[in-house]
Amino acid sequence: METPGSQSSLHRANLERVVRAVRLAGSLTQAEIARTTGLSAATVSNIVRELRDNGTVQVTPTSSGGRRARSVALSGDAGIVVGVDFGHSHLRVAVGNLAHQVLAEQSEPIDVDASASEGFDRAEQLVARLVESTGIGRDKVLGVGLGVPGPIDMESGTLGSTAILPGWSGINPRQELTDRLGVPVQVDNDANLGALGELVWGSGRGVRDLAYIKVASGVGAGLVVDGRIYRGPGGTAGEIGHITLDESGPVCRCGNRGCLETFTAARYVLELLRGSHGDQLTVPRMVQLGREGDPGCRRVIGDVGRHIGMGVASLCNLLNPSRVVLGGDLAEAGELVLGPIRESVSRYAIPSAAQRLSVMPGALGPRAEVLGALALVLSEMGDSTLLDGNAGVDTPAFSA
Ligand SMILES: [Zn+2]
Repeated sequence: METPGSQSSLHRANLERVVRAVRLAGSLTQAEIARTTGLSAATVSNIVRELRDNGTVQVTPTSSGGRRARSVALSGDAGIVVGVDFGHSHLRVAVGNLAHQVLAEQSEPIDVDASASEGFDRAEQLVARLVESTGIGRDKVLGVGLGVPGPIDMESGTLGSTAILPGWSGINPRQELTDRLGVPVQVDNDANLGALGELVWGSGRGVRDLAYIKVASGVGAGLVVDGRIYRGPGGTAGEIGHITLDESGPVCRCGNRGCLETFTAARYVLELLRGSHGDQLTVPRMVQLGREGDPGCRRVIGDVGRHIGMGVASLCNLLNPSRVVLGGDLAEAGELVLGPIRESVSRYAIPSAAQRLSVMPGALGPRAEVLGALALVLSEMGDSTLLDGNAGVDTPAFSA
């Protein structure tokens, strides 16, 4: 019988701490593992050797600050995870291994709003095709992360608002995909997954407190507080799209007037340019024209940035994040939108919060959510299952 505090249970706890640190980061040097876990360099060295010998981790030479170091990652063949991301007009699937390498990825256009069952049919087929293309058996799939473009009610697992996806009314996305794939499925909204994707793979690496802002048909924020997604008890934290900016502004789909969304979401913004640019304009095209110097598009993009900045200023005062990452199509506008966001933040946020904040574009573009879905599975996975041992292979760590 093992008692808590005994030598072997302490050893087991240390093994799990190291596995957890590596699993969340993708790859770490031994010095980084020591810093993250608080274990001594000698202990880390012994544990890494043991984990390498039993096939749980792989160790590859690297350099850190010009010095030779050893990069530690979970073994590439210990299992695979799948990310499925539903947008309003696309379906994207990625397959990754536990070393945070993306093995296969594909996106298809789809009218997700029209029919949930058709969307899930397509997802099921694409997952099967991509897993097969990796040459790794389906029995190696450890879990699936699922992203949906709307708030998820964490208790029921259904979409919090069917006004956003009318074709999904009464559907439980997690249950639906679990039944079809026969593996555990974790579900979250697109903004939270974008935040997780950028935190683990992109612009948020190394940061503990981050807000990911996504402007599309709605406006949402994924909030990372002390390294973890903050969802709130109802799962609706981060709905910054419905911060009131103007009491007498346009009526929002939520029933209020002058919400942030009515100044920034695609249909309101494109409406401003209808008279001058016609009704075929899209947000990517508006961004492209703005970058080419079109004055009307530049003006509108700047105004959107100023309004987003007002919402970010409120976020800043409440949560004091160290980084704000802008995702979605609008991020492609670069400084045209980021500059006005920063101006609003410095005008409306308290100086001490604004000074510590950096505002930057996402590094992952349209891949942020699907990579976040992979990261969701990796972050929620138990460490005990990984410690049962597998043969390791030598592959370079971390290549998204
Ligand atoms: Zn609203």
